[in-house]
Amino acid sequence: MTSKPTFRDEIANLLYASQGSPTNACIQCGTCSGTCPVANYMDQTPRRLIGMINANLKEDVLDCNTYWFCASCYHCTVRCPADIDIAGVMYAIKRYSIWNKTYREDLVGPRFSEAFMKTVIRSGRSYEPLLAPTYMFHFGPKEFFNEAVNASKMMLKGRIPVLPPRIKRLDNFKNMVKKIIPLGENS
Ligand code: SF4
Ligand code: SF4
Repeated sequence: MTSKPTFRDEIANLLYASQGSPTNACIQCGTCSGTCPVANYMDQTPRRLIGMINANLKEDVLDCNTYWFCASCYHCTVRCPADIDIAGVMYAIKRYSIWNKTYREDLVGPRFSEAFMKTVIRSGRSYEPLLAPTYMFHFGPKEFFNEAVNASKMMLKGRIPVLPPRIKRLDNFKNMVKKIIPLGENS
């Protein structure tokens, strides 16, 4: 009889393409937390998050903002003495939480990621005017106004295209992406 995979196993499975060591190689040295530029804004430091994954504290891991606040700078990954791809772990938890719809509704990150993926899948390119609404309202009317003014100036200078750009052979690209990630019906 096969046993159900633990949360740590599930995250390990999502790291199949990573060159790094599994999370249980962590020696809790704290180098990742010490080097992380946004650790002060995280509910749990990277070191604690790795420890929580190893302890299979699934709900606590998914409920914290740590992986959404990760800036993907890879400082932690290149400095980890145990060779754990911590930035890759953060991406793995993001994917896990989006696919299982277990992310916190009050965070900008999940909505931004979803909008980014949909934009890229529809046209093959990122397009800022479609991404901006996912976070602009979050920061209040003043920030919304500032962003709108900046975007208009950049559009007038030709730095942001008026219409979303599309790549050639878009269907080939979509078929390739569909083999990697689950896409919604409307994508
Ligand atoms: S740097 Fe690596 S070994 Fe040290 S606490 Fe972070 S994940 Fe664990
Ligand atoms: S990759 Fe993420 S967790 Fe690692 S140091 Fe950078 S911001 Fe922090």
